[in-house]
Amino acid sequence: MKIHHLLALIHLTMSLQAATPSITVKPFGKLADGQKADLFTLTNKNGASTTISNYGGIVTSLTMPDRNGKLADVVLGFDSLSKYVMESPYFGCLVGRYGNRIAKGKFTLDGRNYTLATNNIGNALHGGLKGFDKVVWEATPKITTQGPSLKLAYVSKDGEEGYPGTLRVTATYTLTNKNELKLVYRATTDRDTIVNLTHHSYFNLAGQGNGTILDHLLTLDSSRYTPVDKTLIPTGKIASVKGTPFDFRKPTSIGSRIDAKDEQLKFAGGYDHNFVGDKPFPGSLTRIAKVEEPKSGRVMEVFTTEPAVQFYAGNFLDGTLRGKGGKVYARRGGFCLEPQHYPDSPNHKNFPSVVLKPGEIYKNTIIYRFSTER
Ligand code: BGC
Repeated sequence: MKIHHLLALIHLTMSLQAATPSITVKPFGKLADGQKADLFTLTNKNGASTTISNYGGIVTSLTMPDRNGKLADVVLGFDSLSKYVMESPYFGCLVGRYGNRIAKGKFTLDGRNYTLATNNIGNALHGGLKGFDKVVWEATPKITTQGPSLKLAYVSKDGEEGYPGTLRVTATYTLTNKNELKLVYRATTDRDTIVNLTHHSYFNLAGQGNGTILDHLLTLDSSRYTPVDKTLIPTGKIASVKGTPFDFRKPTSIGSRIDAKDEQLKFAGGYDHNFVGDKPFPGSLTRIAKVEEPKSGRVMEVFTTEPAVQFYAGNFLDGTLRGKGGKVYARRGGFCLEPQHYPDSPNHKNFPSVVLKPGEIYKNTIIYRFSTER
């Protein structure tokens, strides 16, 4: 037996040995206003782990086995809190109150006009100047029968970042014993408001900092997407993917058509689009995406109760960010699959509603399920 085969076998045996699910906590640092942030590390019975901060609900690491049982961290991020505060392009965070874009930061609800801060070429992006990714959440760790979990809670005041209504939000992260990162979001309001929460990890299934994601094979269970204008706001059209570089209904490498001559790809510098799920909405939890990384054999499937998914290929990463362990993040060095409502929904009557009213409960479940193939 060759030495590397032996090592692979040892890895596999070790990873198959059941561990006891655990949660540890350590300080991450202090924010300018004196608030403290912590890091919670959840380890499941297979030895896979994730570290989550109560600052921004950020998943700072997620280790998953390859086909030989070797663990690697599959999300991009930073080693220090200050880097997340100063230079993060939304690495791993919880985005809200309204994830994605709202045209010119303006929307009307119950006949009243609202104006949000514009932080992205004239539009509002990801909840504002201080969105849910930049606040400290109250954290409650718990070992559950599914696996170790962390519940985060935050109360967003009426008028915060320009949104109406006091929104009480919880986000429960569970690292299940089936190697799933399961996210369950809930919210209630005391006045009509708009809500669109999602998760913003940049994944690289070959391991963070390990080149680009262009060789990853992507399947999207989506026959339609919402084309955008040059500021990445949906035009309102819901278009078929058939015959376009947006057709990922069969496994296709992310890189194979990303630089094709196509106006939509030009606007976003690659993929940065909302794909509409094929299942009926509202409905039950269904798969919306699958990603396979050929070299490591790692596979990630994405399940959601939301009507759509934003697929962003990390086009705006430009090779200047130095991430965990000093790794330099290449352009397209990570991809995001953010299950959510369509961008700019408050301004499009033909898109599913994002309005939450008093007495209603906003619920949203996202599962990133990891496995391997030969
Ligand atoms: C958006 C991108 C944006 C990225 C980081 C994604 O959700 O679709 O356009 O650059 O977040 O801000």
